[in-house]
Amino acid sequence: MSPPANLLAEYARHTLDDSDRAAVAEALLDERLTTGPRVGAFEAAFATRVGAAHAVACNSGTAALEMIYAALEVPGRPVVVPAITFLATASAALRLGGRLAVADVDPARGHLTPDTLAATLAALPQPAAAVTVVHLGGPPADLPALAEVARRHGTVLVEDACHALGSVETPDGAPVGACTFSRAAAFSFHPAKTITTGEGGMVTSPDPALAEAARRHRNHGMVRAPAPLRADSLATAPWYYEMHSLAGNFRLTDFQAALGLSQLTKLDTFVEKRRRLRDHYLQRLAPLSPRVKPLEPLFEGTIGWHLMGVRVEDFAAGPEARAATMTALKARGIGSQVHYIPLYRQPHLADTLGPAADPARFPGAEAYYARCLSLPLFPDLEEADVDTVCAALEAALG
Ligand SMILES: *Cc1c(COP(=O)(O)O)cnc(C)c1O
Repeated sequence: MSPPANLLAEYARHTLDDSDRAAVAEALLDERLTTGPRVGAFEAAFATRVGAAHAVACNSGTAALEMIYAALEVPGRPVVVPAITFLATASAALRLGGRLAVADVDPARGHLTPDTLAATLAALPQPAAAVTVVHLGGPPADLPALAEVARRHGTVLVEDACHALGSVETPDGAPVGACTFSRAAAFSFHPAKTITTGEGGMVTSPDPALAEAARRHRNHGMVRAPAPLRADSLATAPWYYEMHSLAGNFRLTDFQAALGLSQLTKLDTFVEKRRRLRDHYLQRLAPLSPRVKPLEPLFEGTIGWHLMGVRVEDFAAGPEARAATMTALKARGIGSQVHYIPLYRQPHLADTLGPAADPARFPGAEAYYARCLSLPLFPDLEEADVDTVCAALEAALG
């Protein structure tokens, strides 16, 4: 099976080949469909790839965030998230009873900065349970500086690394997922992301207790011997288990783990192809500067580019300009997307935040949101596709 003819219709797309399909087919011959040997094998391979001490697989990136928040005991405590991110970064904390605090971002990259984070943490009535850093688009935020700000305010970093599989934390540093500067990282294997299991996610952490709590949250808060139980006398009874916390079912199936194992072997190839395509975008977009500026990383180094994000100065005139450009691209069969609408502009979250949702409090996020656009980027594209997109963008902007 080959990719569809109108490849450019989406800004993101999975890359599957016959070896991936064979891996899933083989897993389906097994007796066990879920919580079998492939989940453990996928966790071990993923931990090795990103240099993590512990990895816990689950059924989405949203579940991974929720498992981390559960382990960090967020109920009743603030969780700081950047204004520019996907809903799940915030909603997973709110569902667990955390209090949402939204921090502004820098207008060029859409990332938390040490200054925007310090301002948000200083205004909180109590220390935050966590600060969730989002590596928007793939290049990491300034982890060392953000970790130092968090430490000064008595809290810790969590990484929403759903965009950043394949990136390094710092120039010449460990892979994202090693958690050198954070307590845990969350990954997603949705088909739009760098590797896919259909739906799926992973928690990584250097902390065995956090990993254990994440595992427990994955499976209904259930505990069995030899872990400590309340009823000592029943610990050896064959049927016995205890529910120690309110959780749910966030398990990954074994055939999804088989796909994850197969996809993981291709991660380096995917990252390299994405880098080459982005380099070609940079060349092709150069003549449109300064009207169109590609998002730049904080540092040069290995980056798993998830999005081909650009800032288009023309869009600052108002939403009509961006809508017209996206419509013109679509008429030529080219998909594009906005990553993301600021959290404080979402009705439910605005209701939750109250006066703290006033857009005037977020000059960085407003400036970023007004101009951003994501163009197609995924390994099945070729340089000629990039030429097509850039020509269409130039024509659309006039
Ligand atoms: C994709 C994504 C998620 C959620 O992942 P799912 O697997 O779709 O649940 C969370 N945060 C960010 C930044 C994402 O891109």
